[in-house]
Amino acid sequence: MRIYLSKPHMDGSEQGFVAEAFQSNFIAPLGPQLDAFEAVMADYLGGGLHCVGLSSGSAALHLGLRLVGVGAGDEVWISSMTFAGGIFPVLYLGATPVFFDLDPSSWTLSCDLIEEELARANRENRLPKAIVPTDLYGQSADITRLEALCQRYGVALVVDSAESLGGAFDGRKCGSGGDLAILSFNGNKIITTSGGGMLVSRSENIADQARFLATQARDPAPHYEHSTYGYNYRLSNICAAIGLGQMQVLDQRVEARRAVFFKYKQALARPGLSFMPEPEGVFSSHWLTALSFDPQTPGLDREAVRLALLAEEIEARPLWKPMHLQPLFDGARYVGRGVDAALFSTGLCLPSGSDMSMDEQDEVIGHITTLLDGAG
Ligand SMILES: *Cc1c(COP(=O)(O)O)cnc(C)c1O
Repeated sequence: MRIYLSKPHMDGSEQGFVAEAFQSNFIAPLGPQLDAFEAVMADYLGGGLHCVGLSSGSAALHLGLRLVGVGAGDEVWISSMTFAGGIFPVLYLGATPVFFDLDPSSWTLSCDLIEEELARANRENRLPKAIVPTDLYGQSADITRLEALCQRYGVALVVDSAESLGGAFDGRKCGSGGDLAILSFNGNKIITTSGGGMLVSRSENIADQARFLATQARDPAPHYEHSTYGYNYRLSNICAAIGLGQMQVLDQRVEARRAVFFKYKQALARPGLSFMPEPEGVFSSHWLTALSFDPQTPGLDREAVRLALLAEEIEARPLWKPMHLQPLFDGARYVGRGVDAALFSTGLCLPSGSDMSMDEQDEVIGHITTLLDGAG
């Protein structure tokens, strides 16, 4: 049987919540399961937060950027190593992305580069409208430092926590940082609603505005009245019901993903092979196990490993291709030293599903070990 990178992992209780929604006929987008899902998530993430369920993580980022005032011609500084859904919303608003490199010690957005560039941009009076760090493969960027920098310069911080639900930084849950954070419940994420996302904010006013814009910006009136344009971006009540079931097992899913990561790390340990580092104060959900193969070490070849696994119907993928290397962003500004490009060419994500059996994990490890030991 094919072993996937990351697939939906239901618990069984999801169907009960969906059945409840059916019994009460709340099939329309809004309903009690959606309210409950938002409340459960707000509770999970910590006090004083407001959650708005949306149709996708991309929709959440689009709304979030608009709500912090990003518009045509503005700059948004963003991690280059990310998924398309974490960047395209910048384009929906006509804003210009400036791509930033990773820190080699964490594989997340380099705060040193951000700090240097903010100081320079401030002197030259060209500060960005927003900064969007990506929490990569389950691991938070240094949100504490980014919050301080953004406050100092009055720049909005919108945290892309689509991959990091279940992780934490400095004792705070991923998805609770910045002015706003976004989550994704796409089918491959740590929990899924079969498709969905969420916007998280400390401000009730921002959450209210997000709900307003996500339901076609209907001004209070008996007829349909519009003073601005909106979107049809709300999470359906049925999908939220799935989310309620998934929230009950989120902590187990994190435990399982972390166990997969540490099993790989221990079983495959050898010179030249580095797993994504987990800096002090950061607790990664290890949504995906990411590692890099040092090309200088004889016998270590990322593509050989990927292809050997593929031949066994095991899905492994290179890390995200940095956005500044995508044809779409040819000529875009990039601030960095190519840490991300190097990781792209040497890095691999291994099957990391929370439902992987021990046999499946051993199978992946066995194929890699055979290949590396044979070649070494
Ligand atoms: C999955 C993901 C998104 C987008 O979420 P969707 O729900 O698929 O729209 C955004 N950013 C990152 C980093 C992601 O991994």
